[in-house]
Amino acid sequence: MRYVLVGGGVAATATAAALRRRGFDGEIVLVSDEPDAPYERPPLSKDVLAGGDVVPARTPEWYADNDVRLRLSTRATAVDTAARTVRLGDGDDLRYDALVLATGVRARRLTGFEGDRVHYLRTAADARALRAELAAAERVVVLGAGFVGCEVAASAVGLGKQVTIFEPEPTPLARVLGVKIGTAVLDIHRARGVDVRTGEYVESCTPSAHGLVLESNLGDRVEADLVLVGVGALPNVELAAEAGIATGNGIHVDEYGRTSAPDVWALGDVAAQLHHGRRVRVEHHDNALRQGQTVAANLTGEQKPHTDPHWFWSDHYEHKLQSVGHVRDLDDLVLRGSVEEGVFSAFSLTDGRVDGVISLGRPGDVLAVRRALHLPHRVTADELRDESLPLKQLLSR
Ligand SMILES: Cc1cc2nc3c(=O)[nH]c(=O)nc-3n(C[C@H](O)[C@H](O)[C@H](O)COP(=O)(O)OP(=O)(O)OC[C@H]3O[C@@H](n4cnc5c(N)ncnc54)[C@H](O)[C@@H]3O)c2cc1C
Repeated sequence: MRYVLVGGGVAATATAAALRRRGFDGEIVLVSDEPDAPYERPPLSKDVLAGGDVVPARTPEWYADNDVRLRLSTRATAVDTAARTVRLGDGDDLRYDALVLATGVRARRLTGFEGDRVHYLRTAADARALRAELAAAERVVVLGAGFVGCEVAASAVGLGKQVTIFEPEPTPLARVLGVKIGTAVLDIHRARGVDVRTGEYVESCTPSAHGLVLESNLGDRVEADLVLVGVGALPNVELAAEAGIATGNGIHVDEYGRTSAPDVWALGDVAAQLHHGRRVRVEHHDNALRQGQTVAANLTGEQKPHTDPHWFWSDHYEHKLQSVGHVRDLDDLVLRGSVEEGVFSAFSLTDGRVDGVISLGRPGDVLAVRRALHLPHRVTADELRDESLPLKQLLSR
């Protein structure tokens, strides 16, 4: 019996680890087109830029101890779902009993934004290149105030760089957090001296004698030694799509992680999964790990739907932003704490139940909601706002 996992990220390694924990004793082959053995991506925009090492997802010994065969620097180029084979870049056809697609996403590229001083950040190789050039740069421009853009800005400030961010939306992270919470993130970056230009985007980027000259839609000209483009990511669906597997914004999977082809599964950032009746594609670390556990369970005889709430974190200087659950309406959140001071939780409340929270600097609230999502409780908006009432108690009644 051979299970082939395509992808060198945490979704694939989590699946391999859970398969072995569950006693699967067949062959496991993990195919990745990256030269690095699987590693953690979250530190790439944080500690790695500050000088830290790339963090491996597993130790080198782990692969040997668990009999997981790594095929690095090897791209899966085609899948034949009838013959049950994966074609590899070196021409090998690998037969599979189950195929797990964990091909992740790639950074979205902007036409006209290429060249030596222009960076994108998705891989360890990207992070190493960015770190090396950051050392000599003084003026850093970030295009896009999403998670990656904001985190790189924070890391660059930590290295003493002068940072400008261009963001077409009214605030950073507006689409994920809404404008109110986005404003809190904006204030945090401005307080650190970042020149955040909202409602503005860069139209052109031309080399000059001393770096790059950027021109914005508002006619502003900014010089930069280095540009980081953080304008989102595209799911790597091509391998599945060309094999006739259903895709859209991601590889379509059901609650169990199954694609439209027999014995082909997908998970992690690339998977658009049915989750409590909605098809969602989630680009967060914890989701990739948890889906790995679910797929491994289903590959070893269980019928386990993936229903876990989604959780993520993002670091901005000393501020930790977190969210758990499903925030239904970003314009209708109940606030506890102070947005102005940048320490608050914003709850999504439906019919007396909290179904999600976005929180800045209040990790205890996130833990309390994470627990409460699985428990019966009944709470009002006024009670949530009242800081004299302990949240843990409010969410366990
Ligand atoms: C800079 C950065 C910071 C982040 N910070 C956070 C954070 O703070 N919090 C958080 O929750 N999440 C964060 N994330 C997101 C998190 O890292 C991802 O959700 C997680 O890595 C997804 O894992 P994955 O295995 O699904 O995909 P990936 O990690 O993208 O792995 C996919 C792998 O598949 C390989 N591959 C693709 N196609 C093929 C092919 N045809 N053949 C062979 N190999 C292929 C890719 O090269 C890659 O190795 C961050 C991501 C980045 C890039």
